[in-house]
Amino acid sequence: MPRYALPPYKIKMVEEIRLISKELRQKRLEEAGYNPFRLRSEDVYIDLLTDSGTGAMSDRQWGALMQGDESYAGSRSFYKLEEVVKRITGYDYFIPVHQGRGAEQVVLPLLVKQPNMIFLSNTHFDTTRAHVELSGARAIDIPAKETYDASAVFPFKGNFDLEKLEKQILEHGIERIAGIIMTITNNSAGGQPVSLANIKAVREISLRYGIKTIIDGARYAENAYFIQQREESCKHMSIKEIAKEVFHCADIFLMSAKKDGLVNIGGIIAIKNDFALFQACQTRVVPYEGFPTYGGLAGRDMEALAVGLEEALDPAYLRYRIDEVRYLGDLLQAAGIPIQFPTGGHAVFVDCGQMCPHIPFDQFPAHSVACELYIEGGIRGVEIGSLLLGRDPDTLENMKAPKEYLRLTIPRRTYTFEHWNYVAEVFKNVFERRESIKGLEFVYESPVLRHFTALMKPIQA
Ligand SMILES: *Cc1c(COP(=O)(O)O)cnc(C)c1O
Repeated sequence: MPRYALPPYKIKMVEEIRLISKELRQKRLEEAGYNPFRLRSEDVYIDLLTDSGTGAMSDRQWGALMQGDESYAGSRSFYKLEEVVKRITGYDYFIPVHQGRGAEQVVLPLLVKQPNMIFLSNTHFDTTRAHVELSGARAIDIPAKETYDASAVFPFKGNFDLEKLEKQILEHGIERIAGIIMTITNNSAGGQPVSLANIKAVREISLRYGIKTIIDGARYAENAYFIQQREESCKHMSIKEIAKEVFHCADIFLMSAKKDGLVNIGGIIAIKNDFALFQACQTRVVPYEGFPTYGGLAGRDMEALAVGLEEALDPAYLRYRIDEVRYLGDLLQAAGIPIQFPTGGHAVFVDCGQMCPHIPFDQFPAHSVACELYIEGGIRGVEIGSLLLGRDPDTLENMKAPKEYLRLTIPRRTYTFEHWNYVAEVFKNVFERRESIKGLEFVYESPVLRHFTALMKPIQA
């Protein structure tokens, strides 16, 4: 058995990428206000900004596109996708949406039945949190104790803290809990997996108190693979069986199909035996997303998704996918670069607080390293730290994130191990001169979601 999985596919089509000169990279970054979000993708050599909608479709998916039935209502492509979603989840009802946040805006407000309600989650993803708050509820995160303990080698850092979950329910009162959101894998906590035992325990609690459970399952297939690999009692189960068990533990499934749907756009709402909720969702989906049999997607998008959902559950694909992340993580760790360990499902998280302790959190060490990585080798990563977290709405002070992470996000089926070798070499060069890296200050800062549009400059000491 090789140390890392071999690719279960070969290349059939290529897209040109170019490494522009260092002088030009310096100039482009200055023009972009030292914010990699503002770079043009053609000026980036290896783009590790996100794994959302950035993966490669297979020949089967490209073939399926041609079969798209572009009917407004009741298209053949809808029924094909519906069959796949129902079979994989075991749920009764399905509505397509244009992406994950479309599913959130349709479903979440329907669960908020009175003022001052609360959603509890292992960790709410940013858009999920935004839709919880827009619907007048509050989002409370209760990740496991091990989640932010970098030194703990724990196989399921995405888990819930079960004790706190129950305590929160009792403290706030059952009638104030709008739902429990299981984010699998736990995106904001490093793409870390949630164990089946933890999911079952959450389900038990939710049933005991009669609270709806929602799976925010953009990466449910990657999570199922981790369960198979790391949970002793599940090692003889197939990926599909594990996924089924997980779906069995919830009432609603919301999915950004731009991740484990292996498509560039798309999302899913699936509901278990609650016809009234399904009807309410159908009513809401029309003004927000589109008629309930297309939900903002073209027939061809639904065709590609029907195939992608199956491909993402292929064990050979998943093994290679997760090993790519592990490979890059191992290269960085071997060079002494501090990363979140073990690596999760979709990215390597570099602990830049530890790497650059001389840069205070409000001068954004991970964002500074992101800028250096672009200048050094044309690589684009993204800060997941205090810049992303923003300011306290009351005091307007910068809030301090638990970790100053730089996320190197791995698009699906897109790069090769040669690219990861290159990323590691570039990162090593940056790491060697880490003490000379300077923090950044704002030239322009928007009041909300500032990381997307901020203009910055290096602080001259
Ligand atoms: C990406 C993501 C979303 C939002 O989905 P979009 O397709 O980006 O709108 C929601 N939850 C999780 C866990 C995600 O990773």
